[in-house]
This record gives sequence, C-alpha cells and structure tokens, in this order.
Amino acid sequence: MAKQLISVVIPVYNEESNIVWFYDELKKQFDDLPKYDFEAIFVDDGSSDQSIKIIKELAGKSDGVRFLQFSRNFGKEAATSAGLGVCKGDAAMMIDVDGQHPVKLIPKFISQWEAGFEVVIGIRQSNSKEGAVKHYGSKLFYALLGSVAGTKTVPGSTDFRIIDRKVIDEFNKLTEHSRMTRGLIDWLGFKRTYIDFNAPARHSGDAAYSYSKLIRLALHGFVSQTTKPLQFTGLLGFIVTVGSFLLGLFLLFEQYIINDPLKLNVTGTAILALFLSFLVGLVLICQWLLALYIESIHNETQNRPLYIVSDKSTK
Ligand code: UDP
Ligand code: MG
Repeated sequence: MAKQLISVVIPVYNEESNIVWFYDELKKQFDDLPKYDFEAIFVDDGSSDQSIKIIKELAGKSDGVRFLQFSRNFGKEAATSAGLGVCKGDAAMMIDVDGQHPVKLIPKFISQWEAGFEVVIGIRQSNSKEGAVKHYGSKLFYALLGSVAGTKTVPGSTDFRIIDRKVIDEFNKLTEHSRMTRGLIDWLGFKRTYIDFNAPARHSGDAAYSYSKLIRLALHGFVSQTTKPLQFTGLLGFIVTVGSFLLGLFLLFEQYIINDPLKLNVTGTAILALFLSFLVGLVLICQWLLALYIESIHNETQNRPLYIVSDKSTK
C-alpha cells in the first residue's frame, strides 16, 4: 500500500532562529513513523528577518520541504489558509514554528486521525509565560463565543490540530476574508476529538502578536461567527428605556408626591445629567457594535484576495 502523506502547515513570521531547529524536530518524529511521508509547507508571512532565506536553503536541501512567500505580512490566519490551499496530504497538521506546539505530540494526533477522527484539536492546558491578560482574555472570549454564538468551541482550543483531507477540501471552499481558522474549522463540523497539551515557552524569539492584534482578531472572530450581538443591542436598549422610565417614575413619586422621605434631595439637573451620560454611553456602544459589522461587510465586499504570494517552491 502506498504511504499516506501528512502535510505539515507552518506559518512563519520573523522566526529565523526557530526554523532549522523546528524542522529537525519534525523530521525526527517522522523518522519514527515509517508508515507516513510528510511534506513541510512553510508559509513565510512577510518576515523582515532571514526567515525566508533559511526556508529556501532548507527547501533546496530537503525533498519534503515546500514554501510560499507572501508579499507582506498578512497574518497567521491567511498564512494557514494559504498552506491548506496548496497542501497535498491525506491530512494536514497545523503547527506553530516556535515550539509552543510540542512537535513530539504529532504521532498522537496522527493516531487519533487514523482512528477515524476527522478533526483532532489540541487543547492548551497552560502556557508558561503567557501572562494573566492573555489567559483570562482567551477564557472570556471562549465563554462569550460559546454562550452568544452557540459555536461549540472547547476553551483552550488552539490551531494545533490535524484535519482530514475531507475537511481540508471543505475549508478551501470557504470564501470569507476576515477569518479565524479555528472558528471556521469548528463551524465545518466533522467527527472530532481533543488532545490536551502544555504549551512550553517559545524556543526563541518574541511572540509576534501584540495585544491590540489579538483583540482585533478576537473581535473579528466573534462578529464573523454570529450576528446575535446586534440583537443584543436591541435588548439592551429596551432594558435601559424601561429601566430609566421606571426609575424616573420612582423619583418623581418619591421627590414630589410623598415629599422625599428618603432625603434624596435629587435635583432635576442631576437626574438629567445622569440620564444623558447613560444614554450617550449606550448609543456609543451600539454604534461600536454596528461599526464592527460594517467593517466586516466592507472587508467581504471589497473581495480582495486573502493574501499575495510573491514566491513559491517549484515542488
Ligand atoms: N505568525 C504568522 N504571522 C503573523 C504572526 C505570527 O505567521 O503575523 C506565526 C508565527 O511565526 C508562529 C505562529 O504564527 O509560527 C504563532 O505566532 P506567535 O508565537 O507570535 O503567537 P502566540 O504564540 O502568541 O499564539
Ligand atoms: Mg507562539
């Protein structure tokens, strides 16, 4: 029987010090898996360091290495999509190059895939050096997404996953621009299972995702999965209107009809100021929500390509 091919899709952004180390680790894993061939697809996401040079050298030396080079930085989501778009494997393993997705777990992912699971998802248990903001931020994101969007995403889900050829083909049909790979794969469904892992610190280099980039990604991931927040805006407006009406009635009654037994001494101006600032705040929240959606619509209707490839391997 012909060997099965596993594609390994690796987004790379300024990782010059990690690439060779990563590839060696990867090769070691597959040396112990004689049943499989692998192709490593490095997608250089517009790195400004020596990453692409190192990748090209590697591709020149090793048969199993292919690469795509982006014309500029398009983000990890675009890089992953590009890799999945060109991969030839019976399954594709998505993995970070910085060592935070332990390479030695790949055989475990493959064995679950072989057992019939079409999507095998790595669940991050802890992340040494992650920091409280990222940790609780991601917890909050998943809690919100789960309750509001109804997308079943297990907390701690990462992009560290293997997906079957069937899933790759469906994924490649998706056309939206503002994308979060994880969310889209979760949306596709298919038979899935989970593998827990602990994320070690980066092998070297610094995380390229700043907080502002992560927040943008989370927000867009959110609005691309659900339009429920728009309805929530309406609900909020309703609650506030009814609430302020009742409060107004109470104050009127307390102050002017039964002559302020609580000694509140509320002035009319104070009440007005309070309501004004409250309502202005609400209107702003609603506008912000709308803006998020309009931004998404704008990005979709522009219909630009997700990424621009400036160079690729001939293999
Ligand atoms: N990455 C990318 N494009 C970017 C930022 C990151 O392709 O704009 C790659 C990066 O090289 C790494 C993976 O995505 O392989 C995860 O990035 P990082 O380690 O910076 O993020 P974190 O560990 O915080 O998720
Ligand atoms: Mg990382």
